[in-house]
Amino acid sequence: MPELPEAESIGRALRRALTDRGIVRVEIFSPKMRTPLAPLEKAHLEGRTFTGVRRRGRYLIADLDDGRGVLMHFGMSGVVRVESESVPRRKHEHVFFYLDNGLIFRFECPRRFSLLEVCDLSAPGKMPAKLAGLGVEPLSGDFDGNYLYGQSRKRKTSVKCFLMDNAVVAGIGNIYTAETLFAAKVRPDREAASLTKKECHALAECAVSILTQAIADGGTTIADFRNVDGSEGKFVQHLHVYGKAGEACPVCGNIIQVIRQSGRSSFFCSKCQK
Ligand SMILES: [Zn+2]
Repeated sequence: MPELPEAESIGRALRRALTDRGIVRVEIFSPKMRTPLAPLEKAHLEGRTFTGVRRRGRYLIADLDDGRGVLMHFGMSGVVRVESESVPRRKHEHVFFYLDNGLIFRFECPRRFSLLEVCDLSAPGKMPAKLAGLGVEPLSGDFDGNYLYGQSRKRKTSVKCFLMDNAVVAGIGNIYTAETLFAAKVRPDREAASLTKKECHALAECAVSILTQAIADGGTTIADFRNVDGSEGKFVQHLHVYGKAGEACPVCGNIIQVIRQSGRSSFFCSKCQK
């Protein structure tokens, strides 16, 4: 599932491809997705112009010149492309935006967990109401060790679930939580409230440097994720523990373990992480 770095990579490519491009025509091939595509209001979109693309957590907002925005979330397997009309439609491409430069902005989602809808913004540049519950952006000035320390007090949940809680910090999922906990030397199954201030600072600093590196690498491709140009995310070569159960820890040589937490796998080194 795309996390923040993957959404950021897609967002940057879409910003280049869509900004100041007019929408000539919209075709909806399948109305069945996580939310129905009917709210896309085909007629409303035709003739509009994209004014920019923004990211919040793992969501993207493509702003329109009438103050609305097209809100996107890639679910498990959503892929977007901007390609020529000569490329035939793939089986799971559900929506085509024909642009005024002859290219098509295409939205594909084989497993249909993606989100694509037109939403009102209270003012240009504001966030859709749907995103009001999201926590701080990890790459913003609001995110640091003091913030994590304050948020983690009295939390009985595990450190892993705490970091993956989008109401605390937006856009960090299973991959980057595992790597952040390894870099900060904190076990995923510790209680969040047990974190010391020093550990919270380490977690915040590690999260920021890992996410920044992952964005520079175009994200991580484990299974379905592809960038807009079809390329794979190269952060996969920087993974230390994620997906590496049974392999040697790159720091101490101990065997990396895997446990289940809230139905998801957690990878860690019991020697390096306390
Ligand atoms: Zn180790």
